[in-house]
Amino acid sequence: MRVSKMDRANPGIKCVVNTCYYYMQGDNCSAEKIEVQPKNAHDTQETDCATFIPGKE
Ligand code: SF4
Repeated sequence: MRVSKMDRANPGIKCVVNTCYYYMQGDNCSAEKIEVQPKNAHDTQETDCATFIPGKE
């Protein structure tokens, strides 16, 4: 599900993925909410943001 892109940073999220549609300067995310996957992950490397959409606006 595509989530809304806000005109400000989501204060609860820091993200460095600067190729994401929701990325904002200063390592911020402008997505209204995000989803992180997958189930049964064992370490940080296995997890990722399922809300990511490629391409900056
Ligand atoms: S949607 Fe996910 S990958 Fe994209 S900026 Fe937000 S936290 Fe980062």
